[in-house]
Amino acid sequence: MQPIHVSKKPDSSFQPDNGLQLALDLLRNPPQQQDALPKELPESGIDEPRTLHLLAPHVISGAAPLAADTTLANMDPPTPWITWAMSLWNASLNQNLLHPATAPFAIEAERKVIEWLAPLFGMNGGHMCGGSTLANLTALWVARDSMQVERVVASVNAHNSIAKAAKILGLPYEQIRTRPDGQFDLEHAGDLSNTCLVLTAGTTATGTIEPLELIDKAGWGHIDAAWAGPLLLSRRYAQLLAGIDKADSVSVSAHKWLFQPKDSAFIFFKAPETAEPAISYGGGYLSAPNIGIQGSRGAAAIPLLATMIAWGSSGMAARIDHTMDIAHQLAAVISTDQNLQLWGEPASGVVVFRPNNMTTDELDKQLPDGMFSLCEIDNNKWLRSVAANPLADIGKIITCLKSAVAGT
Ligand SMILES: *Cc1c(COP(=O)(O)O)cnc(C)c1O
Repeated sequence: MQPIHVSKKPDSSFQPDNGLQLALDLLRNPPQQQDALPKELPESGIDEPRTLHLLAPHVISGAAPLAADTTLANMDPPTPWITWAMSLWNASLNQNLLHPATAPFAIEAERKVIEWLAPLFGMNGGHMCGGSTLANLTALWVARDSMQVERVVASVNAHNSIAKAAKILGLPYEQIRTRPDGQFDLEHAGDLSNTCLVLTAGTTATGTIEPLELIDKAGWGHIDAAWAGPLLLSRRYAQLLAGIDKADSVSVSAHKWLFQPKDSAFIFFKAPETAEPAISYGGGYLSAPNIGIQGSRGAAAIPLLATMIAWGSSGMAARIDHTMDIAHQLAAVISTDQNLQLWGEPASGVVVFRPNNMTTDELDKQLPDGMFSLCEIDNNKWLRSVAANPLADIGKIITCLKSAVAGT
């Protein structure tokens, strides 16, 4: 065999020098002028600093400003800077939760955040995953394989990830009709002993908290708390989720109301010791069994751990309470404006309304991008605001809305 010559020249692409400072400077002050991206994969690269200059106006100016004081549209929050710092460390260390040897501290960090958060939900363990879509699929997988459930029942307002999960798992999916306020009972749901019942704490369209006290009426009870789960950190609002501790599993997206960068979510289990074996695969190259759906995954616990240590539980609660205040103030103003109709009292920071004196689209066109989102409920178009942004200036937003709806 011919000896192969391996170059010993150090590769500076793995040593940032001043590159990260430049990235931060551009993040603060992105250049306005956009140059076109290469049409095809370039034969030779242009180097890192030039790439940062080329991409900054696209990536940074081309993103919706989630931290802007008029942003109140979606469940995507602005992220605190300590999570940027931790994401940088994470990207550079590239630990893999699949392999304990690469991630000794990341695994400990995940255990710690679960130890701190799971008890709020009355749960005893679980793991992180890339979003509540995956968390919901994981829960239904456990329900099917550890409790032999044969169907999934949820309300018509459940997130589409429940329908997806039922489809993937080959389980029939039945949807319960709700009253106009989004509430319902299980009178027509039949025998639930072979069923995974899913209730939502904070429906995506209206933030409705479904009747969680019904969760123990089925073979497996799963609560999708992707949005409203973090209310349990708040002394003022934790009571809204009373009954959640009777669930067998709970999903929560940390990249929503816990202000984390994506992809950060939890699946929690009441009895991890029986749930996890149903979804664990070991052997082969794995030194520890792989639990859940994802294989390789990053250390999403570290930015969250940092946020929790930096803010403490009272600091986390204060941000959530503040966004709830924003929602309640907006709802109060809408309910007293004769040109506006409020869908209902906001249960979990989601305010849904529409104008009486013009179409919803007409009003929407007059408002700044990103202030509200559009949604459809019972074949009607509504405007929707989600209080995920603690930096929103509610006075400014109300002034803007009032003048748009008054046509001034
Ligand atoms: C956002 C959301 C999901 C999906 O969560 P992702 O983290 O986006 O995957 C599921 N259920 C509800 C109620 C949600 O609001």
